Amino acid sequence: MEVSFRGKHALVTGAGKGIGRDLVLALAHGGAKVTAVTRTQADLNSLVQECPSITPVCVDLADWGATEAALKDIGPIDLLVNNAACAKLQPFLEVTQDQFEQSFSVNVKAVLQVSQIVARGMKARGSGGSIVNVSSQASQCALRDHAVYCATKGAVDMLTKVMALELGPHQIRVNAVNPTVVLTQMGRLGWSDPEKVKTMTSRIPLGRFAGQPLQHLQAVFLSFISSGSQPYLYKHIVQNCCEF
Ligand code: NDP
Repeated sequence: MEVSFRGKHALVTGAGKGIGRDLVLALAHGGAKVTAVTRTQADLNSLVQECPSITPVCVDLADWGATEAALKDIGPIDLLVNNAACAKLQPFLEVTQDQFEQSFSVNVKAVLQVSQIVARGMKARGSGGSIVNVSSQASQCALRDHAVYCATKGAVDMLTKVMALELGPHQIRVNAVNPTVVLTQMGRLGWSDPEKVKTMTSRIPLGRFAGQPLQHLQAVFLSFISSGSQPYLYKHIVQNCCEF
């Protein structure tokens, strides 16, 4: 899908790999000035090599103080994609405090914090803008060994709804996109066992995971980022509609 982002400044978190990296490149190719935020410098180096117009920011988004410092001079942002997340899979009875805190810090707290930083600027300028939170089907489906991950994504859905409600009057649209499995590094972690794959794909009407090719999923994100004339809009979708 060809969408022009010319004249827009986008910020994408979790930009080093997978969906985030792909989105950074799509936004840059669509004409946006893109700030790419992630925590592994080597990923940012290769991203800038691939697309020199990108502004890299290296920070661990689990760290509130470091994130505040890293983003304080970021400048006006029109489009924000809160994409960074981690998935640490453990059976419910083995979940540790560390896993819980790390996952909620990245998957939920950073969404709130980065959105606050960006939305305060949008409100002050009166420019409006668009925020897309990358949630997951896991916000709605119980998945084995995903207790913490599912809980974080459920939290992201509700956070999105309240953000949409409160930021809408400032012409800031807030949406969540809830994909099913995408075979990125994270996707392969949970979904490489063919038996497990079968239980999931048998419930997906199209019989396959999302993002095959990745451009289909990318088109969904880009349309959410760019479209909509409503003062505010809350929608969420499950790519490929998984039935449980
Ligand atoms: P990947 O693991 O492939 O990429 C995640 C990116 O986020 C990496 O660049 C990673 O950096 C970065 N990141 C993770 N933690 C931090 C942190 N603390 N600070 C800064 N950056 C961080 O994930 P995907 O591309 O698969 O997932 C992207 C989004 O899509 C996530 O929100 C995920 O929950 C969601 N999603 C994914 C699905 C899937 O099947 N893949 C399905 C549904 C939703 P590093 O590698 O250096 O840690």
